[in-house]
Amino acid sequence: VCRPGRVLRVQGLVSIVRDDHGELFSCATRRLLKTLATDQRHVVAAGDHVWFRPEGDGEGIIERVEPRRGLLSRTSRGRRHVLVANVDQIVVVASAAEPRIKPNLIDRFLLTAEKTEIRPVVCINKVDLVEPADLMPLVGVYSQLGYQVLLVSATTGQNIDQLRELLAGRDTVLSGQSGVGKSSLLNVIEPGLGLRVQTVSTESQKGRHTTTTAELFPLASGGHVIDTPGIRQFQLWDVIPEEVPGFFRELRPYVSRCRYPDCTHTHEDFCAVKDAVADGRIDTRRYESFTQIAAGDEA
Ligand code: GDP
Ligand code: ZN
Repeated sequence: VCRPGRVLRVQGLVSIVRDDHGELFSCATRRLLKTLATDQRHVVAAGDHVWFRPEGDGEGIIERVEPRRGLLSRTSRGRRHVLVANVDQIVVVASAAEPRIKPNLIDRFLLTAEKTEIRPVVCINKVDLVEPADLMPLVGVYSQLGYQVLLVSATTGQNIDQLRELLAGRDTVLSGQSGVGKSSLLNVIEPGLGLRVQTVSTESQKGRHTTTTAELFPLASGGHVIDTPGIRQFQLWDVIPEEVPGFFRELRPYVSRCRYPDCTHTHEDFCAVKDAVADGRIDTRRYESFTQIAAGDEA
C-alpha cells in the first residue's frame, strides 16, 4: 500500500509529500532511513522521489527515498547539506536593463551550475527596454559556449512561449538577483505562481521557516519551479579557486598547455590561456570575469 510521491518541502522532521493525484501528505521518516544517512543533515530533501505509506488524516510515513540526481547542495563544517534533489535545469535570469545587465554576475551563476552539473539556461528579461542588437554580442558568446539563451519580456510577452515550453514538465531552479523579473515571468506563465514563490521566500528570509531548505511549486503544465531561500547567494557556492578554470568551458582546452603546471592564467608567461585571449579564441570579457572570480573579487 505504499505509493510514490514527491517531496515538495521539508519542515523540521516533517516532509510535505505530493502524490500523483496532487494530494498532500505530512510525512514522517522511518527511523531506519534516518540512521542510514549519517552524513546528511536532512535525510529527506525537497525534490526527493519517495515511496510513502498513507496513515490517514493527510499523514504518512516515508519508507524509501529513490536515488538522486541533479543535486543542489552546500557544504558547511564538513557536512553536505542537500537543499534540493532531482533538478533538471537552472535558469539564470538576468535583465537587459533596470537593473543593468551584469555579465560577470551571469558568469558567477553559470559557474555554480557547472559545478553541480545541472544544465544551465540563460534567460535575459526586460528586452523591451533595449535595442535587441545591443544584446547580440553577449548572446553570441554564451551561445557559442553551448549555453541556451532566451531573450524575453514579461511586460510585452515576447518569447514567453519559449520559456513556458522550457519549464513544462521539468524541475527548474530559478536564480538571478532580485529585481530582474523572476516573479513577473512566473506570473505571466502561470498567474499567481510568482506571488506564491515570492511570499514563501520572503518569509524564509525572515527566518519564519528556518528549517525549510527549498520548495517545489507544481506547474499546471507539469514539472516544478524550485525556489530556495538565499538563492541570490547561489553564485559561487563552495567553489574553490583551483577549480575556477575548469568551470569556464572555453578555458578547459588550454589549461593543461601552459608552461608551468601551477599556472594561474593571470600573470604568468607562456600561458596558453592568455595566448588564446590575445588572439581572440577566448572572449576578453569572459577572461576578465575569470580573473576577477579567481582573485576572489566581489561581483
Ligand atoms: P524579481 O525580484 O526577480 O522577482 O523581480 P520582479 O518580478 O519583482 O520585477 C521587478 C520589477 O521589474 C517590477 O517592477 C516589474 O514590473 C519589472 N519588470 C519585470 N519584467 C519586466 C519586463 O519584461 N520589462 C520591463 N520593462 N519591466 C519588467
Ligand atoms: Zn596558464
